[in-house]
Amino acid sequence: MESNLCPKCNQPMDEGYLSASDATFGYVSQKQRGMVRRPTNIERARACPSCGYVELYLDPKTLKPRLA
Ligand SMILES: [Zn+2]
Repeated sequence: MESNLCPKCNQPMDEGYLSASDATFGYVSQKQRGMVRRPTNIERARACPSCGYVELYLDPKTLKPRLA
């Protein structure tokens, strides 16, 4: 696993994912227009055990066409 340091406090980050029991977490851009604004799934997450900072990653190939 690649080693990643927290951008806030420079400590090693922990790798994981978002979990929800009966809801799906996703990202909706302000650039997305129209009636249906489909959220892009958050596929990857990292959290800093030292300061609590959280990074979230989605699939850019899924998001990009939705911004056009
Ligand atoms: Zn940190």
